[in-house]
Amino acid sequence: MFDFGSFNVIFTVVMIFSLLIFVFVFAMILSSKLRSKMMKHQIKATKYMMEDSKEELSDIAAVSSNIAIKSRKKVLDENEELLTEMATRNASINKEGVEITARAIKKGLSKQVVHCKYCGKEIDDDSVFCKFCGKNLN
Ligand SMILES: [Zn+2]
Repeated sequence: MFDFGSFNVIFTVVMIFSLLIFVFVFAMILSSKLRSKMMKHQIKATKYMMEDSKEELSDIAAVSSNIAIKSRKKVLDENEELLTEMATRNASINKEGVEITARAIKKGLSKQVVHCKYCGKEIDDDSVFCKFCGKNLN
């Protein structure tokens, strides 16, 4: 048997549900449009503000960069000793490196041909052991 009462209830529920969905979608569209409109206004307002206070803003930028420079200088002044020490150390490390390289090049250029006194094969002049026969050369 067809129950007209329960059909009515289902129909009403479906109607309310679709109405809710419709309202929700409408609100979403409206809110996104509203949001973009508000954003546009906000951007415009910011532009006007920046235009009006251009000089002020550039003053602020100048002052803040001045402060940054001053604070950097302060840090440098306060740590002068440490920084000098670091620079000196770096320089000496570099100097050492250059000296080692120069020594290696000099050695390479002036390499003397030496022969092992046991087997007679050609070996490096600073060898302690012969790389061919393995005997101690000192
Ligand atoms: Zn040898």
